[in-house]
Amino acid sequence: MTIALPPLPYPEHALAPHISARTLSFHYGRHHAGYVARLAKLTAGTDYEGLTPGEIAASAPPGTLFDNAAQAWNHDFYWHSMSPDGGGDPGGALATALDRDFGSADAFRAELTAAACSKFGSGWVWLVKDGSGLRIDSTDNADTPLAHGLTPLLTIDVWEHAYYLDYQNDRAAYVDAFVEHLIDWEAAAGRFAD
Ligand code: MN
Repeated sequence: MTIALPPLPYPEHALAPHISARTLSFHYGRHHAGYVARLAKLTAGTDYEGLTPGEIAASAPPGTLFDNAAQAWNHDFYWHSMSPDGGGDPGGALATALDRDFGSADAFRAELTAAACSKFGSGWVWLVKDGSGLRIDSTDNADTPLAHGLTPLLTIDVWEHAYYLDYQNDRAAYVDAFVEHLIDWEAAAGRFAD
């Protein structure tokens, strides 16, 4: 039973008005659940049975198994990149590292916003730890930093299904809401300290 849909860390309405309960009910209840269900089917009776989605995403070759494992992991990580009490400024050692590598928290936010708004097609934009430094990464479709030896600290899903019900084609408004109101800095700081 390693492959099961993990619970959302907050109720579906908790991120409103920035992300609606309707978006979360489809995004979590249909999209994320769908990746998990397909992954469970694909791994049953194989050497991958008993591994977590993250372990499979880090080791599977490109293809359907990788895509579903990575999407299962990416979505759980995305839910845990946001908080109903999110936004504001980072603190502690993460704040110091963001100042060092981006100039300031504001400069980081501007760079993340630009990367998320300009990402072409479906994919993800990440803050990752690469060795001892921080940088912004972007991956296409299901791809994930786990497959590239990087440590993700937070992510924003820029597939259209993440924002279309709430913002239609206005991806910039969704990205702005994420950056200003939803980022769980405490969770990111905890991952940075690990
Ligand atoms: Mn998604």
